Amino acid sequence: MANLDDLYREIILDHYRTPRNRGELPPPAVRTEGYNPLCGDELVVYLDIHDGVLVDIKLTGHGCSISQASSSMMSAAVKGKTVDEVRAAIERFKQLMTVHESSLDGDAEPPVADIHTMGELAALQGVVKFPVRIKCATLAWNTLSQGLDDTYGVQGTGSK
Ligand code: ZN
Repeated sequence: MANLDDLYREIILDHYRTPRNRGELPPPAVRTEGYNPLCGDELVVYLDIHDGVLVDIKLTGHGCSISQASSSMMSAAVKGKTVDEVRAAIERFKQLMTVHESSLDGDAEPPVADIHTMGELAALQGVVKFPVRIKCATLAWNTLSQGLDDTYGVQGTGSK
């Protein structure tokens, strides 16, 4: 699977070198800060939500290549989606990271995320081989989740 590994590495490097959706959004866009103290990654996510649709998303911040690439990939994956779809994407990604985490004990074979269902995000599953980096990859998604919670309340999808 060396070719697939190469492809995944290329996807991550591409997002790191050419991050998507960099910048800020003016109020009333939701502004949410995320921080990963294990690595020092900092991220600010701006969400512009109208009628239950994430119309626009912008990111600022700095950190390691994994956190930067992951946040860029996250923004590209959720922009233009409904809040329900965004929540589902967050769950899928967290599951990808969590299942692998628990499978490190060795009793279960980790499910392999498929590039056809996960898209570019599948590239990040290699990160779980390095548990210390998982928080780098999930920072963007946790910050996004926090931004939705700030907007709608926990687990609400909202008619706001
Ligand atoms: Zn990091």
